[in-house]
Amino acid sequence: MRRSFKFLLRPTSKQAAALTRCLEDHRELYNAALEHRRAVYRKAGVTVRYGDQSAELKHIRADDPDGQGRWSFSSQQATLRRLDKAFRAFFDRVKAGRTPGFPRFKGRGWFDTVEWPKDGDGCRWDSQPHHPSATYVRLQGVGHVQVHQHRRVLGTVKTISIKREGARWFVVLSCDDVPAERLPATGAVAGIDMGVASLVTTSDGEHLANPRYLAVTADRLAAAQRDLARKKRGGKRRRKAVARVAALHAKVRRQRLDGVHKAALALVRDHDVIVHEALKVTNMTKRAVPQPDGNGGYLPNGAAAKSGLNRSILDAGWGAFLTILSHKAESAGRELIAVNPANTSRTCAECGHCAKENRVTQAVFRCTACGHTAHADVNAAINILRAGLALRDAAGAA
Ligand SMILES: [Zn+2]
Repeated sequence: MRRSFKFLLRPTSKQAAALTRCLEDHRELYNAALEHRRAVYRKAGVTVRYGDQSAELKHIRADDPDGQGRWSFSSQQATLRRLDKAFRAFFDRVKAGRTPGFPRFKGRGWFDTVEWPKDGDGCRWDSQPHHPSATYVRLQGVGHVQVHQHRRVLGTVKTISIKREGARWFVVLSCDDVPAERLPATGAVAGIDMGVASLVTTSDGEHLANPRYLAVTADRLAAAQRDLARKKRGGKRRRKAVARVAALHAKVRRQRLDGVHKAALALVRDHDVIVHEALKVTNMTKRAVPQPDGNGGYLPNGAAAKSGLNRSILDAGWGAFLTILSHKAESAGRELIAVNPANTSRTCAECGHCAKENRVTQAVFRCTACGHTAHADVNAAINILRAGLALRDAAGAA
């Protein structure tokens, strides 16, 4: 099983400056490679490939020994591959007939990760294994950087990345062959509804990852953004305001991710089987694309039920949650079932009557046939659980 581990770095001020230069040089390499692809395409209509650009790295490094030449060849290749991936995604979007956004130049602050694709190649995890109290990671051009290793690393370290979040630096290890940490069976099953007031509501009526605690930070972020808008360009005060906004953004992200991890962990700990709504790929973009049904109409795509909300933020939250949940479920040996979310929020869990009038408000469900009332998300979670168990039975019978 593949898994990643993320740790806070404790660089010296000299190392922090080197990390910043490392990121900055990789950003320049990315932008230069992008410009190269654009220019060649414009002039000659030829598509430059990753292999072409990788072959030029040797010369770039030789011409700039104190700049690009300082860093790991492999991490630079990884950066060129990242650009290649952006282009592939671009061409895929063109092919699919979607509105393609051309790969963009990365401005300062929009390039925060450098990856070393192989432990031992320009980088070394646990570079001072005999140190009595601390863990270090060695990064070419930066040195041995101290790591706040708050948990054990499992499996074999494959790739090592550094990541800047606001003023803090992290190291992310991607590990292979991570052994599963199976949990004892509980005999319990749960359906989960992914919603707005709470990220997750279970069929038992539990609300998890309630984002309300985020509201305080979000308010401070809004205030910091208003403050920033009033600052003159190029001033020292503006720079400070920008840093404050970035730090609060990072805090919101951390808090949200923390809530998501805790919710996923609680679900996996307490249940053997977890059923969730399948998120369609189209739901992951800002607008759900209508799918023709072949008879001149359109298939339901789940867009209506949750429209009018800030979908991109919600979808990103749900997507991240499901990714984390699936990792934890796999590791614990739990079963995860995805079901089609159609009608789960408008069907009565008591009598099965399905009507959109059943959903009185975002929070209240009242069946127009039998009068059953419930929290709308709990009602949906029960339907989701039933659909999942039915799928499971059908699979078992086949
Ligand atoms: Zn009913």
